[in-house]
Amino acid sequence: MYKYEIIRRQKIQYVVFLHGNVSIGYCSKDRKKGPNGCICRKCHKTYTPSKLLYPIKRKNYNNDSFIAGEWEDLKRVLENAYILTIFGYSAPKSDEEAISLMKTAWGDNYKRNLEEIEIVDVKEEDELCLTWKDFIHSHHYSTCKDFYDSWIAKHPRRTCEAFWDETMELKKVKENNIPKNCGFPQLWDFYEQLKKAE
Ligand SMILES: [Zn+2]
Repeated sequence: MYKYEIIRRQKIQYVVFLHGNVSIGYCSKDRKKGPNGCICRKCHKTYTPSKLLYPIKRKNYNNDSFIAGEWEDLKRVLENAYILTIFGYSAPKSDEEAISLMKTAWGDNYKRNLEEIEIVDVKEEDELCLTWKDFIHSHHYSTCKDFYDSWIAKHPRRTCEAFWDETMELKKVKENNIPKNCGFPQLWDFYEQLKKAE
C-alpha cells in the first residue's frame, strides 16, 4: 500500500531522451531542458542542443552530461514505478548496456512482487516473456499487440489506480479509452478533462 501511495502522490509524467533528440536542448548548469532555441527559465541563456547517441555497440551513456542526466531520471522513476509499459522496444542484443542500466534500476524482480510489466508488441507472448524475463515477477505481466488494448490506453492518467483497483481491490473499473482516429486538438481536449479533475 505504501508504495502505491507514493505513486499516487508523485504522478510522475514526463519524457526522457535516452539517446538525445534533435529538437531538445538543455542547460547543464540548471539541469533544465526544453525545445531547441528556447531559453532556460533560471539563467535565461539559450539551451545547448543535445547530442545524439547513434546505435553503435558501446554507447557510453555517461560521456555526455545531458544523456547521463536523462538516464538518472529514468532510473529514479523505474525504482518507484508500479507499472512498466514497454512499447515498441525489442531490447536488441546491441542494446546490452541500456538494458543492463534499466535492469539495475528496476532491481531484483523477486522484490518487485506487486509491480506489473506490460509489453505492447506484435511478437508472440512466449518470445516476449523470454526477452523480458529478468524484469517480470512470476505472472505479473501482460502482453498485447495493439496499443489501444493496453492499460495506458484503456485508463489514461489513471492507469495505476485502475490496475490497483482491479487486481488488489477486485473492483471492476470502467474503461475510459483514448479516442481513436483523431488529431492532436481532440486528444488535448480529452486529456484536459482528465487533468481538470486532478
Ligand atoms: Zn540555465
